[in-house]
Amino acid sequence: MDIKRVGVVGCGAMGSGIVQVSAQAGYQVTVRDINDEFLNRGLGMIKSSLQRDVDRSRMTAEDRDAIWGRIKGTTKLEDLADSDLIVEAAIEEIGEKRSIFGTLDRVCPPSTILSTNTSSLTVIEMAAATKRPQQVLGLHFFNPAQVMKLVEIVRTIVTSDEAVEVGRKYEESIGKTPVLAKDQPGFIVNRLLVPYLLDAIRVYQDGLASAQDIDQGMLLGCNHPMGPLALSDLIGLDVLLHVAESLHAELAEPRFAAPPLLKRMVMAGHLGRKTKRGFYAY
Ligand code: NAD
Repeated sequence: MDIKRVGVVGCGAMGSGIVQVSAQAGYQVTVRDINDEFLNRGLGMIKSSLQRDVDRSRMTAEDRDAIWGRIKGTTKLEDLADSDLIVEAAIEEIGEKRSIFGTLDRVCPPSTILSTNTSSLTVIEMAAATKRPQQVLGLHFFNPAQVMKLVEIVRTIVTSDEAVEVGRKYEESIGKTPVLAKDQPGFIVNRLLVPYLLDAIRVYQDGLASAQDIDQGMLLGCNHPMGPLALSDLIGLDVLLHVAESLHAELAEPRFAAPPLLKRMVMAGHLGRKTKRGFYAY
């Protein structure tokens, strides 16, 4: 199957990046958000990001205009009906996502492949809201989607080989490196990363060392580009807690249990960089 038109649901942090990289690769992209305010905010982020590339001589003004010309915004989900592939990047709420998948299934032709960018929900639960579960998969981008190379292609117990192949071709065509994972909690990266971050918080909580020294240890001892506590601040401690709780709810392994300090920091509103206070002050 040849993908020409891409639909994106949600024009927030992730959706806007996915729209941009798809349009840059030559796809016609239609993006839907719930109202003009959110839609215009997202389209504005794309416009500024393209302009930054022009200002830094990474893109010509002609290319910017051509890319911009391939992007169409809408508040109607029905306007995505002519898409060959749809990437859903709306809020992380299963009821909302199931409703989006149900509507897309009704308005799109049988050939359309539906995908979700969910980080912590179960893809089969969205697939089950459609009559085409074999054509539903996860395409899990990383933030910022314009920059990060990796995409996890998530295959449910019923996703067809063809749908996986379409997902792989699309990702490669937009310059991403896909890896294939089963529809299991955390896929590959969060399944391995989250217990590591939680362990770093646990040893900090237990007084093993200062935040700076824990981070420095991993930076210089393992050649990581960023220490685990600084990375947790960057991700957002509320987001980390949410992902940890959802992994723990399903896997029930102690390594996914959130350390008490993390919960208390979230309760205090110390969410990391976005509130200027987390393991570090910003
Ligand atoms: P965000 O809050 O920045 O954006 C979500 C957007 O979706 C908002 O603009 C909102 O108005 C819109 N929206 C809500 N309901 C909608 C609907 N029914 N139809 C269309 N649009 C709707 O969130 P985000 O960080 O971009 O996350 C989006 C998805 O991507 C989530 O599933 C999240 O788990 C996943 N994800 C996020 C990250 C990240 O680091 N932020 C990384 C990978 C995956």
